[in-house]
Amino acid sequence: MSVRINLPLFDGNAACAETDPDAFFPEKGGATRAAKRICSGCEIRDACLQWSLDNREPGGMWGGVSENQRRALLRERGRRAA
Ligand code: SF4
Repeated sequence: MSVRINLPLFDGNAACAETDPDAFFPEKGGATRAAKRICSGCEIRDACLQWSLDNREPGGMWGGVSENQRRALLRERGRRAA
C-alpha cells in the first residue's frame, strides 16, 4: 500500500510522494537508509532540505537529512550568522 505524504510546498515532484511515510519518520534510532536512498534520487532534494531548515522541521527525514543532522546544520548556520 502506498500513502501520499502531504508536503506543503512540493507539487508532485517529490520522489517520496507515493512511498511509505514510515520510512521518513523512523522511531528514534530506527533505520534511515530507505528514506536516504529515495531522497538521493529526488529532483527537489535541495529545496526540500532548505524548506525543512527554514521551517525548523522537528522530525523526520527531509532532503535525505536526519533530524540530528539538521540540528547540526542549524547550529552551524547560527554560528556563521553570529
Ligand atoms: S528530498 Fe526526500 S523527503 Fe524531500 S521531497 Fe524528495 S524524497 Fe521526499
